[in-house]
Amino acid sequence: MGRITLDKVSKRFGDVEVIPPLDLTIEDGDFTVFVGPSGCGKSTLLRLIAGLEDTSGGQIRIDSQDATHVPPAKRGLAMVFQSYALYPHMSVRKNIAFPMKMAGVSEDEQNRRIDAAAKALNLTDYLDRRPGQLSGGQRQRVAIGRAIVREPAAFLFDEPLSNLDAALRVGMRLEISELHKRLRTTMIYVTHDQVEAMTMADKIVVLRAGHIEQVGSPLELYRAPRNTFVAGFIGSPK
Ligand code: ADP
Ligand code: MG
Repeated sequence: MGRITLDKVSKRFGDVEVIPPLDLTIEDGDFTVFVGPSGCGKSTLLRLIAGLEDTSGGQIRIDSQDATHVPPAKRGLAMVFQSYALYPHMSVRKNIAFPMKMAGVSEDEQNRRIDAAAKALNLTDYLDRRPGQLSGGQRQRVAIGRAIVREPAAFLFDEPLSNLDAALRVGMRLEISELHKRLRTTMIYVTHDQVEAMTMADKIVVLRAGHIEQVGSPLELYRAPRNTFVAGFIGSPK
């Protein structure tokens, strides 16, 4: 299960309130996209959910359990970064195994999960290579594989495709959508790209200066943008 609830969650860095108190519910199994211009607080919000930043106020619940002060590794969520964050000296297999090794998963189970993830991500032939011997798209798949094997309650993606060229980006976008269809696990996906938001999301959260302008399905936002900011951002004719 992966229902995530934010209740008056806020974040300040020093004197600056980057996220004023904000309420948001992310339904289990949904593909939710946080979209908004650079600097609007998308990454900060995702990092608060992941536990990589401490909240300044409010409560975060994961499946009705209070997770506000639970350390990141214990939240049961997996974050996929745009920088991949792979270990260059380790093979693909070892990179994917690493979080399971840390969590004390048996070697048989590790191998079972790695083989399943590699198959799902077309990485079977690359398991013995090092990250430096892979293309950008393949590296991104390894980073996703490393998240899958943890069997998280939710995947958190922070602009995972922004380092890829345009053609590859379209392919990876489809792959991530396929993965979501197959796993039906909650995914939160941060992007500043409207096309990604409109094509991938079950639900879009439009952010502006740390607050939520509107939440809705792509069609709802397109048909009934609440204001000109949302309309402009979504590309709605209004
Ligand atoms: P986005 O991901 O939407 O581009 P961020 O969440 O990275 O936006 O940043 C939101 C705001 O918070 C920006 O004004 C940024 O400068 C500020 N910010 C982010 N992280 C820190 C930090 N560690 N210290 C101070 N300010 C930060
Ligand atoms: Mg960001």
